[in-house]
Amino acid sequence: MIGVLGGTFDPIHFGHLRTALDVMQAVDLDEVRFIPLHSAVHRDQPETAAELRLQMVTAAIAGQAGFVADDRELCRQGDSYTVDTLVSLHRDFPDHTLCLLLGMDAFNGFATWRQPEKILSLAHLIVMQRPGEKVASDVWIQSLLTTHQCNDAEKMKHEAAGRILIQEVTQLDVSSTKIRSLIAAGHSPRYLLPEGVRQIIDKNSLYLR
Ligand code: ATP
Repeated sequence: MIGVLGGTFDPIHFGHLRTALDVMQAVDLDEVRFIPLHSAVHRDQPETAAELRLQMVTAAIAGQAGFVADDRELCRQGDSYTVDTLVSLHRDFPDHTLCLLLGMDAFNGFATWRQPEKILSLAHLIVMQRPGEKVASDVWIQSLLTTHQCNDAEKMKHEAAGRILIQEVTQLDVSSTKIRSLIAAGHSPRYLLPEGVRQIIDKNSLYLR
């Protein structure tokens, strides 16, 4: 099974990396593909150029078996819709089951995504739950869970798509927003992200404002 983790990665940090590793190990994924978005649909645009965000992802995952940087959204240009990315991954990896990794916050807004039903026909969802996070109480999400939730990662391997697994992950209180603010305030982001990423930030004077 292939895990798919999309994000702005502006910059990538240990929150992304640790939770991806938690899921890869818990669900026994063959790999996790980190896919920086080109153009955000539901949030502010990334402030850093695509090539640099990809460079940071590549530096961050160096040496971790199974972690792969994937530039398909950057190459595609335009708005980055997850459904298009999954269609393209299906074309490239027809014999693999796809698992879309997303945070609980993202899952709670899943109804607003483009073609959520099609997404579920192309991939399983693995919702990364940090301690204390709750599933939204809205009717659509609750009925989706009633029909699609699965508590056994092993069972997902035997189905092509359409299952939702809620997976607990390590809680690391770090975000790209926090890192950008630290740097803008003249502080070091050291120990919140890999050293190779910090060096790229330094070299390119990123986030100084
Ligand atoms: P920003 O602060 O700019 O919004 P971010 O740190 O949330 O960025 P994104 O690249 O937008 O990073 O996130 C990609 C995915 O990683 C999202 O699904 C998000 O929920 C998840 N994520 C980000 N930070 C963490 C963290 N500390 N622990 C677990 N998941 C995280």
